[in-house]
Amino acid sequence: MSVRAGSAVDFISLGLAPPLVATLSVLGYEEPTPVQREAIPLILSGRDLLAQAATGTGKTAAFALPMIQRLLEPGPGRRHTRGLVLVPTRELAMQVSEAIHKYGRGTGLHVVPLYGGASMEQQVRSLSRGADIAVATPGRALDHLRRRTLALDQVRVLVLDEADEMLDMGFVDDIDAILEATSAERQAALFSATMPARILSIARRHLRSPARVTIAPEKTATGKLPRIRQTAYIVRRDQKPAALDRILDMEQPASAIVFCRTRLEVDTLTETLNAHGYRAEALHGGMQQRQRDAVMNRLRSEKTDLLIATDVAARGLNITHLSHVVNYDLPADPESYVHRIGRTGRAGREGVAITLAEPREHRLIRTLEHFTKQKIDVAALPTVADLRARRLEATIASVRTHLASRDFGDVRPVVESLAQEFDVLDIAAAAITMAHAATARQDERVKPKGR
Ligand code: AMP
Repeated sequence: MSVRAGSAVDFISLGLAPPLVATLSVLGYEEPTPVQREAIPLILSGRDLLAQAATGTGKTAAFALPMIQRLLEPGPGRRHTRGLVLVPTRELAMQVSEAIHKYGRGTGLHVVPLYGGASMEQQVRSLSRGADIAVATPGRALDHLRRRTLALDQVRVLVLDEADEMLDMGFVDDIDAILEATSAERQAALFSATMPARILSIARRHLRSPARVTIAPEKTATGKLPRIRQTAYIVRRDQKPAALDRILDMEQPASAIVFCRTRLEVDTLTETLNAHGYRAEALHGGMQQRQRDAVMNRLRSEKTDLLIATDVAARGLNITHLSHVVNYDLPADPESYVHRIGRTGRAGREGVAITLAEPREHRLIRTLEHFTKQKIDVAALPTVADLRARRLEATIASVRTHLASRDFGDVRPVVESLAQEFDVLDIAAAAITMAHAATARQDERVKPKGR
């Protein structure tokens, strides 16, 4: 995989150290998201931060990367817990801790997730081996503090993630108690999807003249969106490949682009789709213009059915019309969503935009709806019965075409002779059943079908 110079430059210009930038290249991140552009330099500079950003905006990397970098700076307290992230749920504790581990690969920093409902002994053992960064739910962090299995006096960087959720879950007193146990010199960043007065009050109590960052979708102009049918499916990450198969079978796109967040995902998904019988091609920012042109030509001449691309790769592509745009991953910001789906529904034709969102990203769908001022239907995945019905429709349409053109070859005499023995309706039903079974078989061999 080639490393596009531009991406590294983007991340380096935010102040990130080369080893971290190299990790991001390996992960296939092509450019920083808006919240990363804003938050990374601020956190690196040592300032406190109050940031409004929802899940899916890339906020985890926005605090994890500068936190890792700051903890690698020489200073007192090595071998103590110097980074603390408070999160509302056990799932988030696991996710964030995995993300920090991923971004900090090769740095030697240890991350330990601490959440309720899991063995205390095991967490104590992990802590005793040394946890540079703890990612904890407030309740469990407090338990460890009280048992003195966790010390927070050496914490240099503190993050409150999804602070509004933590307040909704009644953690406000726990948060106050935990933050009291940290030193006054520590830096703090608070992330929240919403900024009600209760959050501002926490910020007043625990942050020191914080910089404000707002990734506020509502303020930006929507631009003109053409007629686009927008549908979202809520699917778990591991179910996405199967869900996409089913959706493509149902939708039968004439030409489609599937957007992923990272280059790595583009490569993996392209491979999976090709293995499933589609003709898919990857398009990412690491490719030369010449290669991109060649891919586009193959799409135009219908040698390729699906383009799998990152936002960066699709920028500046000269695509006149696509029947479908699929967001395999939600984009990092609503502007990108509009940009992505604006590639369908051109020239007065109706376009289709399909989005696969993870359960935790449900709220983001509403944000996109609000931003685009258009309805996004949240639908259930097509069932096997739906697919069968869709195929039957296609068979019937094809029967109608034959009827209209009266193109029966030399089959009519055969029907006449069968009609001596059987009811004409039964003969027609038998013939349609056979045709339908044949398209279903063909479907299993080659996808997508029915061009
Ligand atoms: P988050 O908002 O932190 O939950 O991140 C949402 C998703 O975006 C995660 O799957 C990240 O791996 C991914 N992501 C974060 N930053 C970037 C980036 N700069 N480029 C591509 N993907 C990213």
